[in-house]
Order: sequence, then structure tokens, then C-alpha cells
Amino acid sequence: MKRRDGADFIPGGIPGVIRIIERRPEPRSIDLTAGKAPDGVLQDSLGRRLHDLRISVTDRCNFRCTYCMPKDVFDRDHAYLPHADLLTFEEIARLARAFVAHGVEKIRLTGGEPLLRKDLERLIAMLAELRTPGGGPIDLTLTTNGSLLRKKAVALKAAGVTRITTSLDALDDTRFRAMNDVDFPVAAVLDGIDAAVEAGFGSVKVNMVVKRGVNDDQIEPMARHFRATPHVLRFIEFMDVGASNHWTSQEVVASADVARRIDRLFPIEPIDAHYVGEVAERWRYRDGQGEIGFISSVTQPFCGDCSRARISPEGRFYTCLFASGGTDLRDLLRSDADDSALARALGSVWQARADRYSERRGITNGDAQRKIEMSYIGG
Ligand code: SAM
Ligand code: SF4
Ligand code: SF4
Repeated sequence: MKRRDGADFIPGGIPGVIRIIERRPEPRSIDLTAGKAPDGVLQDSLGRRLHDLRISVTDRCNFRCTYCMPKDVFDRDHAYLPHADLLTFEEIARLARAFVAHGVEKIRLTGGEPLLRKDLERLIAMLAELRTPGGGPIDLTLTTNGSLLRKKAVALKAAGVTRITTSLDALDDTRFRAMNDVDFPVAAVLDGIDAAVEAGFGSVKVNMVVKRGVNDDQIEPMARHFRATPHVLRFIEFMDVGASNHWTSQEVVASADVARRIDRLFPIEPIDAHYVGEVAERWRYRDGQGEIGFISSVTQPFCGDCSRARISPEGRFYTCLFASGGTDLRDLLRSDADDSALARALGSVWQARADRYSERRGITNGDAQRKIEMSYIGG
């Protein structure tokens, strides 16, 4: 199968590296003179700009998805961050403002399960007020397991969330209960998606992590269920993130295989990305019955235009999902450093960034013992 860029959609295909560097007006209030390329746009050491900020607001979750927080590791004795160590909403909003001044246009709230963080709507309202240096709004998104969506969807919309992504790994109830490992039913997640629609989120993205021999028989049922709806089902390759999910390459189902299986049932074709650096590759049903996506970090790495920065719940700045170390920003936030000093510190970290873990997977697998967990930093 051919991707939009003409490359074969096959495991190991080489993604194109596209770099579009735009000139942006400087914000007046924050001095960004350090940490910038000569043309005035912040770039890392590989020429990648900063576009997305993912903020993990908690490392706790009410699910124990076997590929993310397996019970043998995330048990009663697991040391979660004490509440006092978390950034306050005011600190998160101040950090986000500095990132936006550097060019961030999209913020995703994640976790752990972000809807477990008390009064999250208050943080959302603060972030919704942010404007890009050009005066435009920020795309403010949230990824959730959906368990609390029925309760929270209206408040999330009112506070300013622009789009919601929900995770759902199977339509078969027994399978889903086993995968979330807390016996949570499919029907409640589907009801959460309905609640999001009723609250005014026209379309929801649905993330399905595919594990061979665990839920790969759910590919077709999930495609059939979300086809001809406004929702966009995205198939995610099982990733070797963290150090506790017992990952093996044998359990990865390549996106190319998933695409072929769906194409046999409902023919599909590739479509353009919304923006450079978008994580999911977009495809649509040829008969006009909607869109699906593929996130192929293992077989078709997309480090070449990765524009994502990540903040952990206690204020560490990570420049890659597979990092083992981050830069503490909480001490700086709690010192008498002003916003310009904060923005300069972010700029310097981004400028030094050289991460491309997925492209080098197999050549070097990093420090597996110390890789950060997905439930701590968020997807
Ligand atoms: N708890 C929320 C949820 O599940 O949507 C937000 C955080 S969760 C870490 C974010 C996304 O990461 C989810 O869509 C989840 O399926 C995905 N994820 C977690 N572990 C993964 C893994 N090992 N490989 C691929 N995706 C993973
Ligand atoms: Fe929780 Fe999301 Fe991880 Fe599942 S994927 S355990 S819902 S953080
Ligand atoms: Fe970005 Fe790191 Fe993922 Fe590569 S491996 S796409 S640098 S987060």
C-alpha cells in the first residue's frame, strides 16, 4: 500500500523528514533572546521546532492496562508522587505560558488518568486563556480512559477543552475488562464518548493499542463500529515505553498489517496531515464513511519532525517519550526567577535536544532500567 507521500506503507519504511520553519512575531512580555536560532525561531539541534506541549497532571490511574501499568509493578506498594510534589495549577499555567511564547500551539493534558486530578477544569480554564504570539487560540486537548467522561464532559467543554481523545482497546467486553485489568466495562466508555458528543465535542479520537494475540482480533470490529461516525479510530503500535510493560517485538502488530486488513474489508486511502509533525498518519474510507489513523512508532518512526515537549506532574521537562532523564523546572518556578529567565531555560533545553529514540531502536535501546513510564509522562 502507498502512503500519501508515495512511500510504501511497510514495516521499516523510511518516513520523510519535512521541516517547515515559520517566522513568528516576538511576544512583548517575555524575553526569549537566548535559546533561539539566528532566524528567531526556536529549533533543537536537529532543526526541529517546538509545536506541542504535553502536560501530565498525575501519575495515578484507576485502570491497570496491562501494556501500561501492569499490576505486578503498579501495586499497592508502588511509590506514586506525593500530592505535595505536584506542580500547582498556577505553576503549570505559568510554565505553559512560557512554552507558548516559544511557539507551542497545541497543549495536551494527560497522565495517568488526567480526570482524576481534582478540579482539573480550573487548570483548563487558565490554559484556555493563553494566546499564541500572533494572538491565535491554543488547541487545548485531553487524553482520557473515558471512565469519568459521562460525569465531566460538560464541564470540560465549558472550561475550554477543544478536543478529546479516549482510549478503547476492544469492543468485546470480556477482552476490554481483561486489558484494563480493573473489570471496567466497554459500555461505560462508549457512554462517555456519547456524553462528549452531547457536550458539544463533535468528533472524538479513539486510541486502540494493538497487541498480537491479545486484542488483534478486535481490529475489524472496532473499525466497523466507528466507521460512518464522526469519530476517528487510531491504531497504535504497542510501544517499548517505560521499563515495566514486558514489551516484546513479537507482540507488535505493524500498522501496515492493520491497514491491509481494514483495506480488504473497507478500502482506504491516505490523506494529508493537519500539520508537520502530526503523530498519526491519516487515512480515509474511499466510500466517504470517515477517517482512521495509524500511530506507528515502532515500524515507521517519526522522530524526524517530532515537535513535542513533555512536562511531568512534578515539573520535569522531558524532550522524548523514551527519555531516562529530564530537567527540573519546579525549583526554578519556586525561585525568584522571572518569566523571561524561565523561558530562556526552556529554550536552552530545547536547543540542546538531540532525541530520536524510535529511529535508533535496535541500535541502542537506551537505559531500559531508567526509561520513564507512560503513566508518569503521558502519551
Ligand atoms: N489514561 C489516559 C488514557 O489511557 O487515555 C491518558 C494517558 S495514557 C498513558 C495515553 C495513551 O497512551 C493511551 O491512549 C494509551 O493507550 C497509550 N499507551 C499506554 N501505554 C502504551 C504502550 N505501551 N504502547 C502504546 N501506547 C500506549
Ligand atoms: Fe491508565 Fe491510560 Fe495507562 Fe491505561 S493507558 S493504565 S488508562 S494511564
Ligand atoms: Fe519524538 Fe522521542 Fe518519539 Fe522520536 S522517540 S518521535 S524524538 S518522542
